Amino acid sequence: MNKFTKITASIGPNCEDCETLTQMILAGVNMCRLNFSHDTGDVQGKKIDMIREISSELNMPVAIMIDLQGPKHRIGNFETEQKYPLVIGQTFTFDSDPTPGNEKRVHLPDMDVLDSLNVGDRILLNDGKIEMQVNNIEPGKVDATVVRGTEIWSRRGFNLPDTEINTSVLTGKDRADLEYAITKKPDYVAISFVQKPEDVAEVRDFITQRSSAPIKIIAKIERQNAVERITDIAAAADGIMIARGDLAVEVPYAEVPAISRHIIRECRKMNKPVIVATQMLGSMVCSEFPTRAEITDVANTAYLRADSTMTSEETTIGINPVNVIKTMANILSHADADAIENPYDWSRVEHIPENDWSRSVASMAYLNRASAIVVFARDTIATTQIACRKPDIPVIAVCNDSMIANQLCLLRGVFPMFDTELFGMRDGFNAARQCHINMGKLVIVDEEKISLRTMD
Ligand code: PGA
Ligand code: MN
Repeated sequence: MNKFTKITASIGPNCEDCETLTQMILAGVNMCRLNFSHDTGDVQGKKIDMIREISSELNMPVAIMIDLQGPKHRIGNFETEQKYPLVIGQTFTFDSDPTPGNEKRVHLPDMDVLDSLNVGDRILLNDGKIEMQVNNIEPGKVDATVVRGTEIWSRRGFNLPDTEINTSVLTGKDRADLEYAITKKPDYVAISFVQKPEDVAEVRDFITQRSSAPIKIIAKIERQNAVERITDIAAAADGIMIARGDLAVEVPYAEVPAISRHIIRECRKMNKPVIVATQMLGSMVCSEFPTRAEITDVANTAYLRADSTMTSEETTIGINPVNVIKTMANILSHADADAIENPYDWSRVEHIPENDWSRSVASMAYLNRASAIVVFARDTIATTQIACRKPDIPVIAVCNDSMIANQLCLLRGVFPMFDTELFGMRDGFNAARQCHINMGKLVIVDEEKISLRTMD
């Protein structure tokens, strides 16, 4: 069996040559993530072209997701590149003065962010290793008391977990990046630091004003206020990424597993795919083997029936990106097979109304012990709904549009078959055979019609 859980791989310096990318796709990558925090413009455009070429060469649909940096904040430079000591209880100042910083103060390039701060708010720097609390605000400067941390140095990233930031989710850089990326027709655009459904609407407007392509939007959940509004954000977006990197800084880290489970459940209800991201095989940046904890984390993502795992530095700067994908695919195949062998817990569909159309499809397949569900996918809607019922048998999507096939790559258990000349019943059977299903019953979904066929 092919694995059911999909793999999103971040593409970077150690895996952006044609040979490595080909090997990675053959090993199980279903979606490539191009992170615009690093390269932009034509450099990314060439990678998009290369992925498209490999995908058509291999005749394997692969989705492309561009990931916008979003309002990720950094402090300015210090007088030297050395580390400056911090003492717990001391006051440290962030200000609009561009001169290099010292042990008392540093420049904050985006001062408008500071306008959103209130006395008492936390400022977390360097992945949460430094914590400060705002004790005084004046025009052009904010004083904060050091609560945790012993040293600070140039260009550390900072997070404001208590603050509703009143700036656009799209920075000037994001707008320029998106403007370019749209011309390359990516399948998905991911937005960082989403806070509310209106952020998603803003990006959707930006895209639809410039392109008629049905580009889908993934909202990255990495702020407390986004967690609180997950249902509304999932409704506005086409998919969700649980961005555990920043999330574990912005919310108490011990809450990340519970939040992840909650988001996965909400996405299932809302018929939206969900990606679990960051440090899944983190140790493999410099090791050929995963840790036991990582193996279990990847497997648990499959058991929770999320749609996709993700790699970040493991593939962008890791020592062996192809091995990372093989390792991840191996763990996922075992966990998927086990999850499927052990009967599906139907109580999980409790929130889906009994007369829901996609629920009928899944229960028809279950009650008849069907081998697969074949959907004639004229768009992504029906297939996505069926996939979100997590039927635990392959959902074979017969597509005659490459963008639909690519976008469906992200969904758990969905195997898109792309051919420009598809759509007869024969094609449904042939697609099933291509997925190594040679006998048994098929549930066939063609627009509103649902039928049960025995393979001949
Ligand atoms: P990033 O997003 O890698 O772009 O920060 C993922 C995360 O925060 O987990
Ligand atoms: Mn992030």
